[in-house]
Amino acid sequence: MSALTQLHEEIARCTRCELAKHRTNVVPGEGAENAEIMFIGEAPGWHEDQQGRPFVGPAGQFLDQLLASIGLRREQVFIANVIKGRPPGNRDPLPQEILACRPWLDRQIEIIRPKMIVTLGRYSMAMFFPGKSISKAHGTFHKQDGIIYYAMYHPAAALHQQSLRKTIEEDMLKIPSLLAKAKSMTEVESPAQQLRMFES
Ligand code: SF4
Repeated sequence: MSALTQLHEEIARCTRCELAKHRTNVVPGEGAENAEIMFIGEAPGWHEDQQGRPFVGPAGQFLDQLLASIGLRREQVFIANVIKGRPPGNRDPLPQEILACRPWLDRQIEIIRPKMIVTLGRYSMAMFFPGKSISKAHGTFHKQDGIIYYAMYHPAAALHQQSLRKTIEEDMLKIPSLLAKAKSMTEVESPAQQLRMFES
């Protein structure tokens, strides 16, 4: 059994927060164990809770289209959420739930070791872009511990606010060049050299 499968079995038994009482299925995430890109959304919704899979409702269909726009399928990336269980009524996750669930996400990142983490929406962004607002941070990135963190709106935002659709599509199109730089960066020794590559 792979380390990730083993971890997901542990997550399925998790009762660290109240959300354990409300779920039909836990939704740990899915995709390639050696994915170069991880997409991290907010929390499972009704469809995800029913199927135990992330991003399978309307927002997930849009995410599939976005992935296709850069030549990727969901099996080639890893898709997860900040929270692994559905908050009742799709309410916002509570701070204590985010805190309780965070170690699972950290362990997924440790196992997958992606070159790039794309945050989808403000809850995911808040973990890696502290103090930033999504309206300013979307489409921007920073590098930490060898990983490029890139912020985007949640795909569901386009379903509620049609005007954001184009913004989300344009932000997605920046990912391939960022990933290419992230990959070549690992071959460059000096931090100063790495910085110059991203400024070019
Ligand atoms: S939401 Fe996360 S912390 Fe809470 S019970 Fe589910 S897996 Fe555990």
